Amino acid sequence: MSEQFVQVAVPVPMRQLFTYQVPIAMQTPAIHIGERVAVSFGARQVIAIVMAVDSAIETTTTLDIKKIKSISNRLNDSFHLSHSLVGFLTLCADYYHHPIGDVFQQALPKLLRQVKKLDIKPPMVWHNTEVNLEEKSVLKSIETKAPKQFSLYQLINKHQGISWAELRTLGYSKAQLNVLATKGLIAEEAQEACQFSWREQDLAQENKQCLSTEQAIIVAAINQSLAQYSCHLIDGITGSGKTEVYLQTMEQVLANDQQVLVIVPEIGLTPQTLLRFEQRFNVPICLHHSNLNDTERLNTWLSAQQNSAAIVIGTRSAIFSPLHQLGMIIVDEEHDSSLKQQDSFRYHGRDIAILRAKQLNIPIILGSATPSFETLQNASSGKYQYHQLRQRAGNSSKAKIALIDVAKQQMEFGLSGMLKHEIKQTLARGEQVLVFLNRRGYAPAINCQECHWLCECQRCDKPYTFHQKQQLLICHHCGSQKRVPKQCPSCGSVRIAPVGQGTEQLEQRISEIFPETSVVRIDRDSTRKKGELSKLLQEISDKKHQLLIGTQMLAKGHHFPDVTLVAVLDGDGALFSFDFRASEQMAQLLIQVAGRAGRASKPGKVLVQTAYPDHPLLQDLVHNGYQHFATQALVERKQALLPPFSFQALLRAEANYPSYPEKFLRSLTEQAFANCQFAGPVPAAMEKKAGKFRYHLILQAKSRRELHIAILQLLSKIADNEWQSKVRWSLDIDPIDLSW
Ligand code: ADP
Ligand code: ZN
Ligand code: ZN
Repeated sequence: MSEQFVQVAVPVPMRQLFTYQVPIAMQTPAIHIGERVAVSFGARQVIAIVMAVDSAIETTTTLDIKKIKSISNRLNDSFHLSHSLVGFLTLCADYYHHPIGDVFQQALPKLLRQVKKLDIKPPMVWHNTEVNLEEKSVLKSIETKAPKQFSLYQLINKHQGISWAELRTLGYSKAQLNVLATKGLIAEEAQEACQFSWREQDLAQENKQCLSTEQAIIVAAINQSLAQYSCHLIDGITGSGKTEVYLQTMEQVLANDQQVLVIVPEIGLTPQTLLRFEQRFNVPICLHHSNLNDTERLNTWLSAQQNSAAIVIGTRSAIFSPLHQLGMIIVDEEHDSSLKQQDSFRYHGRDIAILRAKQLNIPIILGSATPSFETLQNASSGKYQYHQLRQRAGNSSKAKIALIDVAKQQMEFGLSGMLKHEIKQTLARGEQVLVFLNRRGYAPAINCQECHWLCECQRCDKPYTFHQKQQLLICHHCGSQKRVPKQCPSCGSVRIAPVGQGTEQLEQRISEIFPETSVVRIDRDSTRKKGELSKLLQEISDKKHQLLIGTQMLAKGHHFPDVTLVAVLDGDGALFSFDFRASEQMAQLLIQVAGRAGRASKPGKVLVQTAYPDHPLLQDLVHNGYQHFATQALVERKQALLPPFSFQALLRAEANYPSYPEKFLRSLTEQAFANCQFAGPVPAAMEKKAGKFRYHLILQAKSRRELHIAILQLLSKIADNEWQSKVRWSLDIDPIDLSW
């Protein structure tokens, strides 16, 4: 035995590896790359990941051997990271120029980042039991008297071994499970740790649709390319049958004993999609989203690693699941901005999914009704295979979009006369209406009606949003709260009143205008309570409510078959923004909201209220559709050399004084970089937030390689910059939101 050293990634914001010694007693069995070890770092014990062993270490010679600390402990459990995963995470760290230790930190479930020993029990899952005659009659009565319980029973019956995490995500309660269990109809068991458990099972064929010609061509094209990397874009309006295409291509992958990873923007918001996967395949499905506890997260991780999960469905960080036999990745709603992490490690779930598919040499499918411009450009340049679904599946027809000019209308509480009339008619036909307003709270501001004093958050210089139910002013930028002042601090008047309208107020006003109608509001405030969202969605599908009011939460992925009218109250939001992506995002949002209408056999209608009905962007979108709009906009981006025709990195800096971040960023621009331009520094659109002043500097290059090289140079300049310690800075590669 001799001295042995390892280089490890430590969860600290530093862009380097650290060397430790492996004491002789810990050298057997041999230590491997990807192993988790405990090391002391500063005063703390932390979990580090072994990145290189012995001979691969070059730096040891320059270090004073005697000063090198020993690792404290090897965690001899089975949670090593595979070479493949270590390789992938290293690629991610390089691409985003992010500290490797922090990448691991974000990729691993919390329990694997703790030094204490893990006590792992197999997860508990539900099965149904064999029923005797008596229980059969109990079932019959449940079927008639408690439909929700019965649907739960049917689901468990179809999908044996379903976990509480899945059932909860689908909107079922512990109480419903307990009733069925007490009656002896279902039972809980520890999940068997079987590999390829789906091999022997029939991949259930029920609910399978007979594909349309368009769909069949896509499935065939993808099936042909299963054995290697290829990227497919499925561009199809909502309801055109994209999900059905995913399901049928997955079938082939699963039949080959491989796993599938499905990435969706927000799982909790789209339980219906999850239900379709559960109903289609009787294979172990694991979830990965923010509403899981630490043990459930670890369970998903383990199931992925040990091959006992056939399908992992999750939000962006599911891309880090250690799937061992991954055969295909699907990214649904690839345009959705929630796929991008907006703090610390700012990765884009779609982009690194493509990185992973390339690394593993497997196919990846991107789907959207409104593909991002980046993706469209990659499709038209031939990097991705482009597939289009033009028709809606089944016999539903496409919703028509029309504009309402608010200047020519009598307005009442934000509703035009024409819109009120249309709502009334739709309700009279017994159909549902969705009213979209992307502003929660009661009113976006309160002011003094005498002197027009506006009540602003001191830390952000932005108006407080008034929340009537709580009788509170809340700053939507920093979260600070305060009571509504009784008097104007400026002139002493007591005439302080809300200005503008948010969803909370709209709900109240609409209930007054349509007193006979049941109104429901869906936004972050009304669905804060656990389980509330799925309860409200269920009530909507049970037609308990006729009028649905919501923010962009309602624009995402839901199926509302009885909604035949969608009203967009304020369609102007992004028309005049400085951010070149604002119009793309506005178009996506409008088309996505429109996609909620008329999904069943009833035709849908979309009405957009606007003060600028002649605006070319709106006109183009309404008359020529998203595709045409995107093609036009891409021509403009190309002329202006904006992404996707160039590559950007955004350096953000903030401090308590405005001069610090400005000087810091300016000093970096003094020296020019080859083939790269600077824009800025400029104050961020929201210059002040939570008491900090924020500045931006954009670095832009014609190729990704040039950008990459410039960033390396920039980072080395930052390391010895005199302002560096006076500001907080962060780097955002391929930024998608320049507004903050
Ligand atoms: P998307 O994912 O594009 O929104 P879906 O796959 O959810 O579309 O399809 C919309 C609806 O049409 C679903 O209810 C689905 O069951 C149905 N559907 C999809 N493909 C077909 C088909 N080939 N034949 C009949 N119905 C279909
Ligand atoms: Zn006043
Ligand atoms: Zn604030």
